[in-house]
Amino acid sequence: MLFHSTRNTAHRVGLSAAIAQGIAPDGGLYVPDSLPKFSATDFDGLTELADIATQLIAPFAAGDELAASLAGICREAFNFPAPLVELHGTPGPASVLELFHGPTSAFKDFGARFLAATMQRIRANQANPSTRKLTILVATSGDTGGAVAAAFHARKGIEAGVLYPKGLVSQRQAQQLACWGDNVRTFTVQGNFDACQRMVKDAFADPSLQQSHELTSANSINVGRLLPQMVYYVNSSLEVWRRTGKPANYIIPSGNLGNSMACIWARAMGLPIGEVILATNANRTINDFLSSGEWQPRHCGPSPARQRPKNNFLLVM
Ligand SMILES: *Cc1c(COP(=O)(O)O)cnc(C)c1O
Repeated sequence: MLFHSTRNTAHRVGLSAAIAQGIAPDGGLYVPDSLPKFSATDFDGLTELADIATQLIAPFAAGDELAASLAGICREAFNFPAPLVELHGTPGPASVLELFHGPTSAFKDFGARFLAATMQRIRANQANPSTRKLTILVATSGDTGGAVAAAFHARKGIEAGVLYPKGLVSQRQAQQLACWGDNVRTFTVQGNFDACQRMVKDAFADPSLQQSHELTSANSINVGRLLPQMVYYVNSSLEVWRRTGKPANYIIPSGNLGNSMACIWARAMGLPIGEVILATNANRTINDFLSSGEWQPRHCGPSPARQRPKNNFLLVM
C-alpha cells in the first residue's frame, strides 16, 4: 500500500516513510491510495486489541519494511483495554467507550504508543543510521503532549520536544508534560496552542535545523496515529454487531478530527458503523463547513484550562 499527499496524488511513499515524515514535503497530509475492505467475519476469533490491530493494519503495511514487525508493534502498543460499558437509564441502548485506560489516561495513548513503537523500528532498520538526531516535535494543548512524552520516554536514539501554552493546561497535564527528563524536553510558550503549532511548523521549515535534526511530527496529522485509532472502533462496533445485529452509532468529542476520521475510515472499510456524530466546542467552524461547504477558520480565544471538560471516552449508541 502506498500513501499520497493530499496536495499531490503523484507524490507517493510507503507506510514507514509516511510515518517517519509525518507530513508530506508539500505540506499535504499522507493518506492511503485506497482503503482495504473488511467484513465483520474477518475478525472472528480475535479477542485481543493487539490481534485486531495487526489484522486491520496489515494491508496498510503490505510491501513496506514495517510489515514484518507489525505484530510486535501492535502487541507493544495495545497493552491496555478499551472496554464498552453499558449505560443504564437511557431512552435507548447506549454505552460509553472508555478510552482512558492507557498510561496518561488520554485516548491519545493509542496513537502515541503505536507511533513510538513504529518509529523505534524504523530507526533500527536504517542501514546507514543518519547522524542527525531523530527528533519528534509536538505542539499540545495538553493531552497529546503527555501521551507522546510518555510513549517516547527512554527510547534510544529518539528525542522528543513538547511545546505547550503557558498557563493554559491543567495542573495535572503540566505535571504529565514536565515529569520526564531524559530524552524528553518540554517547553512552555507564551501564547496559545496556535502559537506552539506555528513554532513547530517554523522548525520544520528551517533549513539549518533540518541539517542537524531529522524532525518529525507527532501531531494528529501523522497517519501513524490515525491508523491505530481505528482499532477501538473496529473492536467496539463488532461487539455491538455480534450482540445486537445492528451497526453502532458514535458520538465523538472532536477537535482536529483525527479521532473521528479514524471512525469514518473504519466505516468506509466495511465495519458495522452507522451514524457518526461530531461533538465540537463553541467554535462552530466544522459545523458551518458541513452545512455551507465553506471553510472559514475563526479565532475562539483560549479557554481557561480548568473550564475544559475531560472527555476521554465517547458514546456508542
Ligand atoms: C485530543 C482530544 C480531543 C480531540 O481529538 P481530535 O482527534 O483532535 O479530534 C477531544 N477530547 C479530548 C479529551 C482529547 O484529548
